[in-house]
Amino acid sequence: MQNEFDKFLRQIEGTRKFLEVPENIYRQLLSVKRFLEVSIPVMMDSGEVKVFTGYRSQYNDARGPFKGGIRFHQNVNIGEVKALSAWMAFKCAVVDIPLGGGKGGIIVNPKELSSGELERLSRGYVRSVSDIIGDRVDIPAPDVNTDGRIMSWMLDEYETIRRHHEAGVITGKPLSLGGSKARSYSTAQGGFYVIDSAAKKMGIEKGATVAIQGFGNAGRNIAFIMQKAGYKIISVSDSKGVIENKEGLDIADVAKYKDEKGTLLGYPKAKDIASAEQLAEEVDIFIPAALENSVTEKDAQTLKTKLVAELANGPVTPEADAVFEKNNVTVLPDILTNAGGVVVSYFEQVQNAYGYYWEEKEALQKLETIMRTAFEEVWKIRTEKKTTARNAAYIIALSRISEAMMARGRG
Ligand code: NAD
Repeated sequence: MQNEFDKFLRQIEGTRKFLEVPENIYRQLLSVKRFLEVSIPVMMDSGEVKVFTGYRSQYNDARGPFKGGIRFHQNVNIGEVKALSAWMAFKCAVVDIPLGGGKGGIIVNPKELSSGELERLSRGYVRSVSDIIGDRVDIPAPDVNTDGRIMSWMLDEYETIRRHHEAGVITGKPLSLGGSKARSYSTAQGGFYVIDSAAKKMGIEKGATVAIQGFGNAGRNIAFIMQKAGYKIISVSDSKGVIENKEGLDIADVAKYKDEKGTLLGYPKAKDIASAEQLAEEVDIFIPAALENSVTEKDAQTLKTKLVAELANGPVTPEADAVFEKNNVTVLPDILTNAGGVVVSYFEQVQNAYGYYWEEKEALQKLETIMRTAFEEVWKIRTEKKTTARNAAYIIALSRISEAMMARGRG
């Protein structure tokens, strides 16, 4: 399997030809600033002690504290955690929020753990990394298979160790512990502002067709939001299959069906199709919102679309990216399209610091301003440099990170 951190290194190497980055700065961006591996012993319900491996990667904090989620997954590995921490730094820089990049993970299939075991594992992780996190040092958040409940245990453990309240040490908390309104759907909402701005530039009208890969937090919410805004969702998929209705799906009805049946397949007002068929559809906008590397070179050759919006992290492989570029398909990169989640995490931290909480409308207005501004900046550089939106986003992020490092005298 390709090391994800190598993929990141190839991306920044490619960006370098568009802007001057001093060699002394660039050299520091080729590795993470700090990486911690921990062993977490957990008393299982059976009375046996199991030892889990966890990581925290801190890539760069020139622009502000490290920031990034904690993933619980059996495939978590060092290269992936390092790459995700680097992508976080670039994501925060492209939307211009004052944070750096970090990421954490534990090698575990959480579906095999009882609630008590999961709580002991979550608390054990925090005990292991507590020396290197803090609201002005490194701020974790949820990621794949972690949620508000896990963040609450982690916050409680951290505050117990520190013996003071410090809500801003972790984001993605429930509202009762200082979470932000709009956080639950912020990734999709932020993605919508970016996609809608791009559609306007490209002359894609309301009523345009949309296909979505993935129907979890990101995919389901973007489907709702796009439909409400007047787009026509013609297909959605999950890990079990794809449903399609060229006249448009009623997403609330589809979501109800999926919640009841646990699958999209068999939904009566659409037909079941193969996943290869979804990837050969003629559709105005394609939104991968499931997994990494889910759109391959072959898929890029068959998909007939104008715009691909990466709501997932790293769904389009570099080979597929090259095909899209050749075919003049615009790809809105993940570091821009899915940054809404970290933007509202940042809002959460700001509210925690002030102890004063905003209404949902206020959070959404601020999110819209940040996302549409970041999109305009990316689009401008893309046009000026005659390159892809991905390269443009990396150019902006790399220049902001290196500028902060230079200002600190790190060059
Ligand atoms: P999730 O676990 O809630 O949903 C994932 C969805 O993908 C599920 O519906 C699953 O069935 C589906 N899926 C899995 N394999 C598939 C396949 N082969 N084909 C089609 N669908 C498949 O996860 P999520 O939170 O929605 O995250 C999705 C992606 O978005 C990830 O890459 C994640 O890193 C990224 N992301 C999420 C957030 C967030 O706030 N949720 C923020 C930034 C990035």
